[in-house]
Amino acid sequence: MLGRMPGSVRVARILGIDIRIHFSWIVIFFLVVVTLADNIFPASFPAWSRPKVFVVSAVAAFLFFCSILAHELAHAVVARRFRMSVSSITLFLLGGVANLTKEPPSARAEFFMAAAGPATSVVIGLAGLGLEAFTDANLDQFPTLQPVGAVAGYLGFINAFVLAPFNLVPGFPLDGGRILRSIIWGLRGDRATATRIAARGGQAVAGLLFLGAVWRLLSGDSGGLWWGLIAYFLYNAATSTLQQERLTGLVGTVRVGQLMTTEFRTTTPGTTVGALIRDLVLPQNLRAIPVVSGERLAGLVTIGDLRKVEQDQWSVTPVQAVMTPLAELATVTPDDQLSTALERFGSTELPLLPVVKDGAIVGLLYRESVVGYVRMREALGLESRR
Ligand SMILES: [Zn+2]
Repeated sequence: MLGRMPGSVRVARILGIDIRIHFSWIVIFFLVVVTLADNIFPASFPAWSRPKVFVVSAVAAFLFFCSILAHELAHAVVARRFRMSVSSITLFLLGGVANLTKEPPSARAEFFMAAAGPATSVVIGLAGLGLEAFTDANLDQFPTLQPVGAVAGYLGFINAFVLAPFNLVPGFPLDGGRILRSIIWGLRGDRATATRIAARGGQAVAGLLFLGAVWRLLSGDSGGLWWGLIAYFLYNAATSTLQQERLTGLVGTVRVGQLMTTEFRTTTPGTTVGALIRDLVLPQNLRAIPVVSGERLAGLVTIGDLRKVEQDQWSVTPVQAVMTPLAELATVTPDDQLSTALERFGSTELPLLPVVKDGAIVGLLYRESVVGYVRMREALGLESRR
């Protein structure tokens, strides 16, 4: 599951989870409507008027969107049962992504969480196909139900025969790849090895999809573009998982406290942007400064935050108006493993992580020092497997 995607907007909040839509999803919505209205429905129901075809197509596309959302919500609900919190669900080009705030704690948790999505798609699929069979059988009595049956049949087919099987393909990070990882993890008790195997599976699936895409394109089928796109996303996701896993292996059991800087400057929430720039940013050449209220960390302010303030407002804008508040800030503790810090760096663009102990800031962990440390271990050929 990827981090939060840029280019998405919040459209709803369900069960305390933000539902976001990536702009690419709007493209998919129209593609689905056009495909249904131009090809699928006119072929099966030639008597329908054009407006009727369009309305039924739009309803079907909307419910398709809802069924993907239901799939993702199922992942989220099970994740919660295992005490993993899901901050948001983003619907994008290739379906949905539920953003977990941390990795699954056990093989069992991962198995049930991953299986919940495809299981939901199968249930929706069977319900749709059942409803279609029912309306078809009773069409003489209720002819007005024909569009309902058409929509149900489409949703049934797409959920049971496209969404569920595709997601169950055993390549990480697809659901099937997560299920595979959880099984290997459970059997061998080693998450790192399980991740490597499942991610290699993801790369292999992406390779096969790519070959399929080329074959379809060469035979004049533009649907091959679609497969190519999926192959590209899947390959990237599987490859970055492998890199992350390799880094985790390299940093071994080192703790944040061993690499953090304990000499650093801080500012206060009430300091003006002008004073901060004059007294700290310029003379010390600092790109990110922790904001501290009394003993406690309140947030972090970066050059990027300061740039948003017009120069004539510098003397009246307090730092707290532009800083990233603590609640939205990735932090680590001195006892966290370096691999945890690497995960956090992966989900933020900040150049450093504040190191916090009992609410107070005790150090800064710079991205460069972590990267430098990893390079050094690599250069010395040190690799410690956990
Ligand atoms: Zn899923």
